[in-house]
Amino acid sequence: MTRFDFDIIIVGAGSVGLAFAAAMRESNYRILILDSGDLPRFDDSSYDLRVNTLNLASETLLNAVGAWSNMQTKRVSSFDRIKVWDSAGGRIQFLADEIGEQHLGHVVEAGVVTTSLVEAIEGYANIELRFDIHLQSVTLSEDRVEVILANNERISSLLLVGADGGNSTVRESIGFNVSISSYDQRALVAQVEASEPARQTAFQVFLPTGPLAFLPLADGSYSIVWSAETSFAAQLMQLTETGFEQQLSAAADYELGDLRLISQLASFQLRKLEADNYFSGRVVLAGDSAHIIHPLAGMGVNLGLMDAAVLSEVLQEGGLESKPDPFQDSRLRQYQRWRKSSNVPTAYIMDGFDWGFRHPSKLIQTVLGAGLTLTNRMDFPKQEIIRFACGLRGDLPSIARRV
Ligand SMILES: Cc1cc2nc3c(=O)[nH]c(=O)nc-3n(C[C@H](O)[C@H](O)[C@H](O)COP(=O)(O)OP(=O)(O)OC[C@H]3O[C@@H](n4cnc5c(N)ncnc54)[C@H](O)[C@@H]3O)c2cc1C
Repeated sequence: MTRFDFDIIIVGAGSVGLAFAAAMRESNYRILILDSGDLPRFDDSSYDLRVNTLNLASETLLNAVGAWSNMQTKRVSSFDRIKVWDSAGGRIQFLADEIGEQHLGHVVEAGVVTTSLVEAIEGYANIELRFDIHLQSVTLSEDRVEVILANNERISSLLLVGADGGNSTVRESIGFNVSISSYDQRALVAQVEASEPARQTAFQVFLPTGPLAFLPLADGSYSIVWSAETSFAAQLMQLTETGFEQQLSAAADYELGDLRLISQLASFQLRKLEADNYFSGRVVLAGDSAHIIHPLAGMGVNLGLMDAAVLSEVLQEGGLESKPDPFQDSRLRQYQRWRKSSNVPTAYIMDGFDWGFRHPSKLIQTVLGAGLTLTNRMDFPKQEIIRFACGLRGDLPSIARRV
């Protein structure tokens, strides 16, 4: 029988690659995770600018794979209220109480999630983690996948998972077709302090130049994600610190009082990406390598974590003791169908919000503003929106389902 070095190689030890490995930690598969970066570390002296909003489904998954308790010993911040408004005067507020929950989600630095996931898989003999590893190429044949590293080492497996983010080398090497479009916006991210903070409350304002979010952090400060049209973003980046703080406080309608920058200001170009297929032969994509959506509702990593959960579920369908070839066309097809049915509509919903609230027509702005205020008074649609945002709607993998 042909020998393989591993059953599954995962390229990319971000939240998605690590969550997939953690969900497979009790299987019989021998798994290798490779990452070009360093072993993630938690630094309690400063905040990581890459912050994620994790919904309730992601919390359930991270709890089931043993990472949630590790995260709580570091830094997580829950919120039970989201205040949303727009430039036309529309307002809506979402409360955890409205769906009988204690909170709507958590704001967590990306480094807290990855460090905690590494802790959850350390000690499992079937999983090997290697950092600072540089991929040279990936070759795919009928019976195996082979990765060739920069030092010419060759490692083979039955299945390769590309969880290597938006600029995925795996996706490019195999030649997956992708649709990419630009939002013509940059996301400005920073940590700010507010003179009038509100406990456990996230804020989102839809400006005509793009959405601005305030995500509450554990120490009472906020992480901001300001998605601004490219030319406006360039102007904002050129302001003095005081000039930026004034623009930010005014953009938020002084809802949080005066805002003060307490970190560097960083920015990312925003784009949308969707792979036509999530697998090709023995190579499968998960997370940002397969799809990137607008960050306006903080859904990106939540979708990626559900990819990880679904992929682990379809591969372990025969039970933990069984160990079929992890490459089976029908299983990977099931994974693709299952995840596309959630990822594609979510991307369109985000685009709809972005398009509508940035539309130059006063009429559309007014209708949307009125829609927010009206929905705020309607219990059922509002509860459904909250459940959707919390990840409680749709066909969830069992590991992310609450009992
Ligand atoms: C401004 C902004 C704000 C956001 N806010 C939110 C939010 O609030 N909530 C949310 O859910 N999502 C948010 N997102 C999206 C979220 O950050 C991503 O969806 C998420 O990080 C994707 O995780 P991933 O594991 O797929 O990829 P990544 O986090 O990008 O991880 C990829 C990993 O692969 C490694 N890698 C890359 N190339 C190689 C290679 N060639 N070989 C080996 N390793 C490699 C990298 O080192 C990295 O560790 C935001 C995105 C942006 C741009």
